[in-house]
Amino acid sequence: MNLLWLQSAGCGGCTMSLLCAEDPNVIDLLDGAGIRLLWHPALSEATGREVTDLLAAIAGGTIPLDILCVEGSLLRGPNGTGRYHILSGTGRPMIDWVRDMAHVARHVVAVGTCAAFGGVTSAGENPADAVGLQFDGSHAGGLLPPEFRAAGGLPVVNIAGCPTHPGWVTETLMLLADGKLTEADLDGYARPRFFADHLVHHACPKNEFYEYKASARHLSEIGCMMENLGCVGTQAVGDCNIRTWNGEGSCTRAGYPCINCTAPEFEEPHHAFTETPKFAGIPVGLPSDMPKAWFMALASLSKAATPERIGTNAVADRIRVPPSLKTPRR
Ligand code: SF4
Ligand code: SF4
Repeated sequence: MNLLWLQSAGCGGCTMSLLCAEDPNVIDLLDGAGIRLLWHPALSEATGREVTDLLAAIAGGTIPLDILCVEGSLLRGPNGTGRYHILSGTGRPMIDWVRDMAHVARHVVAVGTCAAFGGVTSAGENPADAVGLQFDGSHAGGLLPPEFRAAGGLPVVNIAGCPTHPGWVTETLMLLADGKLTEADLDGYARPRFFADHLVHHACPKNEFYEYKASARHLSEIGCMMENLGCVGTQAVGDCNIRTWNGEGSCTRAGYPCINCTAPEFEEPHHAFTETPKFAGIPVGLPSDMPKAWFMALASLSKAATPERIGTNAVADRIRVPPSLKTPRR
């Protein structure tokens, strides 16, 4: 399969993240899945005329394109011309090249939340009119209309994340290469369900603290970060604490709240990322699928039943009270 990777308006962090892929790594992924990398702006040696000839050959149908990966948001400004971002050496806006490539590609993949939904690049007043490939924030329809389907029959596959997990990219590409990714395997925002059917909260090491609502008050304390420090792991999709990053880490494992980077419009929560918005002392954003009254009842019961070990450790930067010793049965 032929793969072309284009970088639009983003920081390049999703490519850097992909280089950390371990199982398989990028080279093994391409070899093992039978994927030929036609060009990547950071990883390929080809430049200048060689690249513009390649793009023209793909657009003209001389070279078949199986997978188009786009990283970074698409700049439609000013006034829909796309001329804020010209693809160097071509005199044409990047959005025109992306549209051309999307219409000849068998599969189109948005790598990262910028390419999927607009992401950080679309924050604020968004003077560049940055959008995702097929979403503008949470609204269907970005550079491409909601009804767009690539030649293989799928909408744009949104491997969201800021940056995206390298394993989400390698697994998606392997599934596409194997013909095993169908529309039923994508969620309502077209994110592959193999990671989007999980919540970040699943397997977070702070789960014992969460159970008792034993909360950290400051970053570096080891309690749960939902109540005071803005963690939305109970609502954010991603297998970040199951698959982990770089073999062992995740945001919450590193002591930083999950900020829901796999979701559209995560970049503008309307409060500081490390603050939990509250109404009458109660967090506004409650866990997915849980009625508010149940949460309130459970929270007050569990707070009242918090063991000393958990309550003390939650507001410390290391274990202060170890588990009690049990006498072995004779
Ligand atoms: S820190 Fe976040 S992800 Fe971890 S247990 Fe608390 S709410 Fe869940
Ligand atoms: S833990 Fe949350 S913020 Fe961190 S990478 Fe996963 S989804 Fe994004």
